[in-house]
Amino acid sequence: MMKVMKFGGTSVGSPERMKSVAALITKSGEPTFIVLSAMSGTTNTLIEISDYLYRKNPEGANELINSLEQKYLGHVEELYSTEEYKQKTRQFLNEEFNYLRTFTKDLFTSFEEKSIVAQGEILSTNMVVNYLKEQGVKATLLSALDFMRTDKNAEPDAQYIKEHLTAIMDENKGYQIYITQGFICRNAYGEVDNLQRGGSDYTASLVGAAVNAEEIQIWTDIDGMHNNDPRVVEKTEAVRQLNFEEASELAYFGAKILHPTCVQPAKYAGIPVRLKNTMDPDAEGTIINNTLVRRKIKAVAAKDNITAIKIKSSRMLGASGFLRKVFEIFESYQTSIDMITTSEVGVSMTIENDSHLSEIVDELKKYGTVTVDTDMCIVCVVGDLDWSNVGFETLATDAMKDIPVRMISYGGSNYNISFLIREEDKKRALQSLSSVLFN
Ligand code: ASP
Ligand code: MG
Repeated sequence: MMKVMKFGGTSVGSPERMKSVAALITKSGEPTFIVLSAMSGTTNTLIEISDYLYRKNPEGANELINSLEQKYLGHVEELYSTEEYKQKTRQFLNEEFNYLRTFTKDLFTSFEEKSIVAQGEILSTNMVVNYLKEQGVKATLLSALDFMRTDKNAEPDAQYIKEHLTAIMDENKGYQIYITQGFICRNAYGEVDNLQRGGSDYTASLVGAAVNAEEIQIWTDIDGMHNNDPRVVEKTEAVRQLNFEEASELAYFGAKILHPTCVQPAKYAGIPVRLKNTMDPDAEGTIINNTLVRRKIKAVAAKDNITAIKIKSSRMLGASGFLRKVFEIFESYQTSIDMITTSEVGVSMTIENDSHLSEIVDELKKYGTVTVDTDMCIVCVVGDLDWSNVGFETLATDAMKDIPVRMISYGGSNYNISFLIREEDKKRALQSLSSVLFN
C-alpha cells in the first residue's frame, strides 16, 4: 500500500519550493505516488494565451508564450546543478513551447484551449521528475493522459482509471516515486480535457482510490482546515479531524483549502485524506476520515456572491407539483440551487451562478410574486448537528442574534446549519460564531 501526496501550485511555485517538495517526498524512502499542480500562475497565463487566440491576436499570445518560456528557462538554471539535466530540460521546454506556438497559426476552439491549459501540469511534473532523477532518486513520470478519463457525462470514469492505472503500475514496478499530473485528463472521446479549475485535488483522490492508497495527502500552504475563515477572523485554529461529510460541507461552502469534488472518491474507497502544510511539514494538519465525533461543532465557512430568490403564491397552498415547476425552471437554465426554505405560501432558494437570473425570474413570475436579494452570503456551521442532539442549533442561532438573517436551513443533513445573510454582515457573523462556538 502506498501514500498519495498532492502538491498545489504554490507548493511547486519556484525552483526552491520544488526542491523542498523533492526532499519531502523522498524522506520516508517508501514508494509514493505524487500528484502535482502547475506552478502557481502558469494555468492563468495559459488561459490568457488562449484568450488572445480566441480574439485572433497571435502577437499577444506569442508575447505571453515567450515570457513564460523565459521564466521556465530561468527556473532551469536554479533547479538543476548538472549541465546534463539543464540541457535535457531546456530541450524538453523547447519542444513544449514550440508546441504552444503551433496554436497561434490555426483555427482556435475550446479543444485547442484544453490542450494549451494542460501544459501547466506537463511542465511542472517534468521539471520535478528531472530534478529527482538528477538527485539519483528512482522516479518515473506517468502521463495522466494515459489513464485519467471522464465519461460521457464528463464525470471521472473510476473503472477505466483503475484498470489503466493498475496496468501501468504493473509495467512500471520498482520505482520509489511515481509522479503524475493533476487536473488533466482525456474525455470519453479521447480528447485532452481537464477536471475544472482546482481539479488536482480531485486527481489525487481518484488516484488514491484507484491504487487503493493507505492515505491521500493534500499539501498546501496552510496547516489544515481551519475552524473559521482566517482571512476574516483572527485566531482561527486548525481542525484536527473531520468526518468526510463535514469536510464536503466545508469545502463546498467556502473553505478554499480543499476542492469539494475531492472528498467523494476517497470517501467511497474509505481512504483517509490528510491536509498538510508544505511550509510546516511536521504540523499535524487535518485528517478527514469516517469517524464522527459526537456532540461537537467543528468549523464555520462562508460563501459569497449568493443570490436569493423568493417566490410567493397563494396557488402553492395545498397544490401538489408547485415545487416541481419551480425547480424545472432552474434546471432548464442549468442553475443549481444551494439552499432552500419553504413555507405554505412561499419558497426561497439561493443560487451562486446568476448568469441566467433574469430569464429564471421572468419564468417564475408566471407562478407567483418574485423577489430577488443580491450580494448575499451563506454561512455554514458544520459538525455533529444530528437533530436528536439538543442545544446545538440554538447555540448557532444565538451567535447570530444581532445579524439580519434572510434564511435558515437546518435538518437537510446531520452535519450542518446554514444561514443566509448580507455580505456586508459576514465579518460580524463569523466573528460572533467563533466566539460563541469555539472560545
Ligand atoms: N492548475 C490547475 C488550476 O490552476 C489545477 C490545480 O491547480 O488544481 O486550476
Ligand atoms: Mg488548489
